[in-house]
Amino acid sequence: MSHAGDSRIQEFIGDPVSDNPILGRAKLEEIFQDIQADIRFDHELHGCLNCGICTATCPAAHYYDFSPREIVQLLWTENLEGIHDAMQEKIWACAQCYTCAARCPFGNSPGGLIMLMRETAIKHGMQSAKDVLRPFSRVMLKLISTGNQLAPDMINPDHFADWGPNLTKVKAPLKILRKAIPVPTLHTTETAWQVNLKTSIELYTIWEMTGVLDQLETIDQNLFDVIVDIMDEKRDDWQDWVDEQEDADED
Ligand code: SF4
Ligand code: SF4
Repeated sequence: MSHAGDSRIQEFIGDPVSDNPILGRAKLEEIFQDIQADIRFDHELHGCLNCGICTATCPAAHYYDFSPREIVQLLWTENLEGIHDAMQEKIWACAQCYTCAARCPFGNSPGGLIMLMRETAIKHGMQSAKDVLRPFSRVMLKLISTGNQLAPDMINPDHFADWGPNLTKVKAPLKILRKAIPVPTLHTTETAWQVNLKTSIELYTIWEMTGVLDQLETIDQNLFDVIVDIMDEKRDDWQDWVDEQEDADED
C-alpha cells in the first residue's frame, strides 16, 4: 500500500507554550518524508488498530517510557511534531527484538519502523543520535578497523566498576591466558580473534559502499577521520602484499 498522495498529515499545532516552533514545518516534513520514502516503509506499516498488542509484548515498554503502539500511531496519523519528538529519545529505547512484528494483527513491524526513524535521525545528524552512539565509539572503532566488535583489551577495570568481586576476572593476565587457547587466531588481546587483512578490507568496503561510513561522518567526524586513516593504511598494506605476490610470480 502506498501512502504517497494520500496524506494524513495533521494540522500544524506548534509548541503550546511558545510561539517559536522548535523546528520549522518544512524541516518536520522533510524528516517524515525521508522516513516514508524508504522502500521498507510500506512493507512495515499497513494500518494500525491501536490495539496495543505490540506494547503488551514489548520488553522495552516494561522498563522505559516507551510504547511501540504510540510510535506506530504517530507514523500512521502522520503526526509530524510527535514523530520528531519521539526521535529525540523514545526510539532509542527499542531493543530491536521484533517481538512486536511477530504479534501485530495488522502485519506491521513497529521495530522495523523504529529502525527507519533511527536511520533518519542519523542522516539528519540529530543530537539524540549523537548522544546514543557516543558510548559505542570504541566499539565502532574496533569493529570497523579490525572486523571484531569487542576485544579482550577493551575490558578495562575502570569501565566495569559495577562488577564488584568479579573484577578479578578483568585483572587476569589476559595475554598469557589467551596464548593457552589451542586456536591460534585467538592468541590476541587487541582482537577477539584475528581477522585477516583481506577480510578486514572487504568488510570496510561493504560499510563504505552501503553508506555506513557516510552516516558515521554525520554523527562523529573525529571517529570517522581516525577510521579512514587506519583503513587507508590497511589498504596500502594489502596493495603492497598483492604487488609482492605479482613480483614473485614474475620472477
Ligand atoms: S502496531 Fe499492530 S499491534 Fe501495535 S497497536 Fe497497531 S495494530 Fe496493534
Ligand atoms: S522490536 Fe522494539 S518495539 Fe518491537 S517488541 Fe522489540 S523492543 Fe519492542
